Amino acid sequence: DFDCPPAMENHLRLLRHYFGHTSFRPMQWKIIHSVLEGQDNCVVMATGYGKSLCYQYPAVYSQGGIAIVISPLISLMEDQVTALRVANIEACLLGSAQKEKSTVLGDLMSGKYKLLYITPEYATAATEVLDKLHLKVGISLIAIDEAHCVSQWGHDFRPSFRQLGGLRTHFSEVPFIAMTATATPVVKKDIISSLRLKNPAITCSSFDRPNLYLEVFMKSSSVEKDLTKILGNHDGQTVSDGAIIIYCPTRSSTELVARKVQDMGLSCAAYHAGMTNVQRTQAHQQFVHDQVQVVVATVAFGMGIDKPDVRRIIHYGAPKDIESYYQEIGRAGRDGLPSICQVFYAQKDFIVSRSFLKTIKNPKFLEHRQEMINKMSRYLNITSCRRRNLIAHFEGKDKPDIGGRERCCDNCTKKLQRKTETSYGIKNEEEKMDYGPEAKLLFEAIQATGENFGIMVPVYLIRGSANQKLPERYKTNPIYGKGKDKKEDWWKALARVLVCEKYLVEKPIGEMGGYKSHSKQQFYITVLSSVAQEWLRKAKKDKDKV
Ligand code: ADP
Repeated sequence: DFDCPPAMENHLRLLRHYFGHTSFRPMQWKIIHSVLEGQDNCVVMATGYGKSLCYQYPAVYSQGGIAIVISPLISLMEDQVTALRVANIEACLLGSAQKEKSTVLGDLMSGKYKLLYITPEYATAATEVLDKLHLKVGISLIAIDEAHCVSQWGHDFRPSFRQLGGLRTHFSEVPFIAMTATATPVVKKDIISSLRLKNPAITCSSFDRPNLYLEVFMKSSSVEKDLTKILGNHDGQTVSDGAIIIYCPTRSSTELVARKVQDMGLSCAAYHAGMTNVQRTQAHQQFVHDQVQVVVATVAFGMGIDKPDVRRIIHYGAPKDIESYYQEIGRAGRDGLPSICQVFYAQKDFIVSRSFLKTIKNPKFLEHRQEMINKMSRYLNITSCRRRNLIAHFEGKDKPDIGGRERCCDNCTKKLQRKTETSYGIKNEEEKMDYGPEAKLLFEAIQATGENFGIMVPVYLIRGSANQKLPERYKTNPIYGKGKDKKEDWWKALARVLVCEKYLVEKPIGEMGGYKSHSKQQFYITVLSSVAQEWLRKAKKDKDKV
């Protein structure tokens, strides 16, 4: 880039001296240079790329003045302040709960600190402190970490972030830098407009994390069996391969899984909102300091953990949505070494996520949340490259150069292992899958039952089931029992794949069951998409020709 001169020797000297790095990473220097020039910046960079340096370096480089860092998490800020102090950089944290506030304030106003960390609540409530600080010491820059929290289109909306736009107007000549590890194009736009960034330089790194291997399993009925599958070796002993986080959807499942992990002989701590602060801090510390190998937690755990060598992230139960998932697996392998991200799920896991949707009033927002859940479901059910699927969500395009590697995901591994491929004509993105005849049978069964039911009735028909839910008149249909060589679960799984790949559509038909229970349930019927109708017509025609 011609408008960004290379870093000079004095820049690198300071980098070595305070931060111990010999060079800047490519995008880091560009951002730092732009901040030093006084420009606003919006930075979207994958976890582990080194965002902190983008504001810490200018803070240290600027003669006089102090950098303000706004971040939602006290524990994360505490860790950063400690790390900076170890590196001989004066930094402090100020919030409503801080002790010794008056000494800190005195030191602040005397210009002792290079960086001040505050929460967004504090930033908006204590403008007079910031005004005074600006007058006495001079604010060199304002950095906003986890900036996606500003947007309700993101996965972690926090209303306190929306107030921060006022700060931008108030300190009109101070450069702002907004940073996040996860932002879709929509969220990025929202960050820029809500924070009122002025003509910002925008930097986006790739969302690919090449060192993470992605893998998905269906849950069995036994937690032990599932965990042994991935954590056990051939002799039934548990492998010990570094730090592991296991995410569970609820407190009770967290406790259950933690017990099972302990039974397997691994040292393990649980972490959820039902525990006291002291207990949670203890679990956190034990994990960070390798006193326990595994932490089994609800998603409450993690936003603030800075542990570079997490080797494995397991979701026992479907993750909430695609963006939360990306954020959660972002905690694996920050040191760049190979790490594994695994999900165990059942289709019914999504019932919980979907039930939360009922509380959303705004129809556009509802649709958005629904789409995030659907994308998660698609990720779990696809048979093509999971890495490509995940990244396409953030980068808004399908990058052909991602995926297909040996250490990419389970689907790519399977594909590489598959020597001969049978092709039957249902195109699954880039490859032809071999479930054509079964898909055809399922489509025919759905049509035969009038596209009037959920997936179970057509499956009963195919399997030749005696179930009462299959109306008697269908039991003489030629399809009846044609697919009984495969289990019910197999057919249900196929239907899932076909929904995800948009051959089948699940149409909501309103809430039922309200008359006898307080928990209303949404019901769906399964119908053929126009693509599937067309495919079926062609398949029949081809058969007639033969
Ligand atoms: P992020 O906030 O983007 O997740 P961090 O700021 O925590 O990333 O940095 C991730 C890791 O990369 C840290 O261990 C940090 O010391 C290291 N790092 C950052 N910049 C550099 C650099 N220029 N050279 C070498 N290591 C770096």
